[in-house]
Amino acid sequence: MNINEKWHRANRMPKNPSLEQRIKWHQEHAKYCTCRPIPEKLIIEMKKRGG
Ligand SMILES: [Zn+2]
Repeated sequence: MNINEKWHRANRMPKNPSLEQRIKWHQEHAKYCTCRPIPEKLIIEMKKRGG
């Protein structure tokens, strides 16, 4: 587990994020930080969208 605090400060999850926003956030997050995995539900949604 490794938190990239700098990235987190610059990239806050919006309040009441839409599914779209959560997917985008986690895609970016995974590039810069490994503090938590992408939730399985989101991975399924990403695959549906061809990502
Ligand atoms: Zn993180």
